[in-house]
Amino acid sequence: MEWLALSIPILAAAWVYSDAKSCGSSSPKLWAIGVFGLLIIFLPLYFIMRPSKKSRVVKLCPYCGKYYKGIPTFCPNCGKHLQGIK
Ligand SMILES: [Zn+2]
Repeated sequence: MEWLALSIPILAAAWVYSDAKSCGSSSPKLWAIGVFGLLIIFLPLYFIMRPSKKSRVVKLCPYCGKYYKGIPTFCPNCGKHLQGIK
């Protein structure tokens, strides 16, 4: 059973690292180390602190040139249709 006890924190740390990185977290390594060392404490903490992907995405509207957050269907500034624009 030792391999199981060891592989769970490793997998959790690897997932947290890649997830924190994709969310734009400034310290994915610290989260991974924390989860690996203190899984019981840091994993729930990560879910609480985790930056939401939607709210952190800031994009530039190609029509009006203003920044908007999230993934709205229409630009909140000029009202142009934005879906499908990357
Ligand atoms: Zn716009």
